[in-house]
Amino acid sequence: MTKTISRRSFLAGSVVFGAHAVLGAQQPPASAGVADPALIQDLVAAYRILAQQGVVDGYGHVSARHNRAANRFIMARSLAPELVTAADLIEFDLDGNAVDAKGRSLYSERFIHAEIYRARADVRAVVHNHAPSVIPFGVTNVALRPMYHMAGFIGTGVPVFDIRKSFGMTDMLVSDSAKGRALAQALGDKTCVLMRGHGVTVVGPTIPYVVGRSIYLDLNARIQAQAMGLGGGNVTYLDPQEAQKVLDSGENRGYERPWELWKAKAMGK
Ligand SMILES: [Zn+2]
Repeated sequence: MTKTISRRSFLAGSVVFGAHAVLGAQQPPASAGVADPALIQDLVAAYRILAQQGVVDGYGHVSARHNRAANRFIMARSLAPELVTAADLIEFDLDGNAVDAKGRSLYSERFIHAEIYRARADVRAVVHNHAPSVIPFGVTNVALRPMYHMAGFIGTGVPVFDIRKSFGMTDMLVSDSAKGRALAQALGDKTCVLMRGHGVTVVGPTIPYVVGRSIYLDLNARIQAQAMGLGGGNVTYLDPQEAQKVLDSGENRGYERPWELWKAKAMGK
């Protein structure tokens, strides 16, 4: 009872002084409860796999939607991906607020994840990375297209998010909810979105999907640059219908086979 009253008087007072900022700092969101241990294990593995495969270096991150609440997701504290353990994982709400950060610093681009989970009910995992291979396709008029069956998820192409269009001159980072919303809008119903002069964000229905897509998007970008470099301008891409058939047939069998291998290597087994 005392707690309720003091919260109410706090609320009443903060209306005058700017409720949102004050409340954001003072009232952490409630936890959805303990996440599925298998999800936690896969998320830790995902950080390490992406580092081992060269998709992320000291930067970049991956998250998973909480298995008990659609409005919560889990990602690491601000840390190089290859060093992430279960103890580094933190639960967030869709405004990017940590349930309990324990004073640790957070990824400034957690809003990428938060706003995509808000916009896309089908998405249960998100990767953001700065793979050098994809950068050229965000800064030229050359569209990233599916080169082979492993990258059929590219479909008819990848949208490009240009932060400058809505936000003018920035430090290029998606570091608040408004920028995250604009990115989610650019993503639309696609599997990934390039970010001009920055990197890419990849989404999927499971952690293996989003890790697999990130790895094969990187490979596809390299293969495309290589094919275009051979000259002639006669590159044959997957037809949109072929790409659709890859998706319809279960997209690389949900990445189950390589996932077991990647995970075993990443966890030192
Ligand atoms: Zn970034």
